[in-house]
Amino acid sequence: MNYNLAHFITSAPDIRQMPEDIGIEVAFAGRSNAGKSSALNALTRQNHLARTSKTPGRTQLINVFELAEQKRIIDLPGYGYAKVPEDMKKKWQAALGEYLQKRKSLKGLVVLMDIRHPFKELDQDLIFWAVDSGLPVLCLLTKADKLKQGLRKSTVLKMRKEAKNFEGDVTVEAFSSTKGFGLDQLRAKLDSWYLP
Ligand code: GDP
Repeated sequence: MNYNLAHFITSAPDIRQMPEDIGIEVAFAGRSNAGKSSALNALTRQNHLARTSKTPGRTQLINVFELAEQKRIIDLPGYGYAKVPEDMKKKWQAALGEYLQKRKSLKGLVVLMDIRHPFKELDQDLIFWAVDSGLPVLCLLTKADKLKQGLRKSTVLKMRKEAKNFEGDVTVEAFSSTKGFGLDQLRAKLDSWYLP
């Protein structure tokens, strides 16, 4: 798959207003500031595809990008921002759960987590939902350049062990948008999911 060809299709205010549920899509999710926009830009080699460092917690949209006919990348809104009202959080979580369960074209979930703070509660909830729905999950431990090589490697090994607790197809890779770590692994995993 040529990820450089990604282009913006639409922003949906909620999951009901997403494009028709046909073809193959892969969703990207993570806490606000985890480095999701930077990862999407690195993957597609486009500096402005996803907007980085936006004010966290503002009403965010689901951004839909197309790679090829009926092959989409879904950029889900960042979660975990403390100032979002509780009832909005609940509504979003319910909608997200429904999306993971019911969306037929969804073939995989990429969860981005800062390598220094992996597997927070909301990340774990999301991964459990995905596994429950039979979806494979790729966990990217972002900003891996912030750790020295030894600690980076030991953290990845530790998190791979932890990922076994989900009892599903959950893989873990170190990732850095700035240094390019993990990009080949991300592309290989996505390629396997986008196979017809
Ligand atoms: P998002 O909210 O998940 O979309 O996160 P962003 O992509 O906007 O990144 C949040 C912050 O982390 C920004 O200041 C980025 O410059 C920084 N950042 C993102 N990826 C990396 C990375 O790989 N390495 C480092 N050192 N910083 C990063």
